[in-house]
Amino acid sequence: MIQIAKKKVLLKGMPLEELNNYFVSIGEPKFRGGQVFNWMYNHLATLFGEMDNLPKLLRSKLADDTIIKTLDFVDSQISASSGTKKFIFETIEHNKIESVIIPEENRTTLCISTQIGCPLDCKFCATGLMGYKKNLTAGEIFDQYLLAAKDYGKDNISNIVYMGMGEPLLNYSATLNSLKIFADELTTGISLKKITVSTAGIAPKIIELADSGLKVKIALSLHSCFEDTRSKIMPVNLKYSLKQNIDAIKYYVKRTGTRVTFEYVMLKGINDRQDDINALAKLCAEIPSKINIIPFNSLKHMNPEGYSAQLEPTPKRKIEDFVTRLRDRNITVIVRYTQGDDIAAACGQLATNYS
Ligand code: SF4
Repeated sequence: MIQIAKKKVLLKGMPLEELNNYFVSIGEPKFRGGQVFNWMYNHLATLFGEMDNLPKLLRSKLADDTIIKTLDFVDSQISASSGTKKFIFETIEHNKIESVIIPEENRTTLCISTQIGCPLDCKFCATGLMGYKKNLTAGEIFDQYLLAAKDYGKDNISNIVYMGMGEPLLNYSATLNSLKIFADELTTGISLKKITVSTAGIAPKIIELADSGLKVKIALSLHSCFEDTRSKIMPVNLKYSLKQNIDAIKYYVKRTGTRVTFEYVMLKGINDRQDDINALAKLCAEIPSKINIIPFNSLKHMNPEGYSAQLEPTPKRKIEDFVTRLRDRNITVIVRYTQGDDIAAACGQLATNYS
């Protein structure tokens, strides 16, 4: 149970079972948990006054002792070229969070954040360059969806990816609780089948997630099939090797009956060679999978230094050739062309410039 300022209990982010336990612990019937769950997560209520099937006395007690609002809307920007919409939200402690809506032909995906900043320092990623500030609570993770749904329309968001700022599996319990809310049969809207958790590769947590019973889809930020190259691009590879992660992903896929998505940012001269195609083809032959090819987005707005400053995008023609060669090997490949570059909302560009 999370307690914040004035020892108020944070209800937003509690899965149903935790809510039920809370109401029992204050001498209320268990079903109050379901009522408040419904108000918070389905009706997007932010005030206890709106919960008109709760007794007035209980509503005022809850207003005194608990809190259900975790984020404020600060600003939003829309990309003129793609319709991508970036939201800036603010936590109670005045930290800023970014979430992005990406409209595509057959679906509209909301990309949500799980940490403020990120400790993993992937060299192609703006969020990595800004460092780590804090883990988000389950309420702050789920509230990004609720606030985006309020603005954009709940029915207009079809998919969710945990791929914004931060590494979801380094904030495991909050990520898991937010997934439990999506998974609950009381929750209307998006099902787990439409949700993907993207990880840079925290092998033990991939196994834990596989064993959680939540059959959410998983994506691994791969970016190279070679340990040494991957370690240069993603220092986390020195702690959890590619081999450990691939073993964990194999376990995940088997346990959940899902297929993995490999994310692959195209970096000129680093991971776009024939050797990389051969290694990708070998890997994909072993695991039910697809590859998302992501053109590298500029980090110039972050003034990068060191290895990050040396990274250059693979030219478009070379990406097309790379993709064709992979498809010739019967691999499912999707190219995620840049969306929202003009508002720094594209993949790997999320880093808050607001203060
Ligand atoms: S790519 Fe993901 S894991 Fe890596 S630094 Fe960026 S936010 Fe963190």
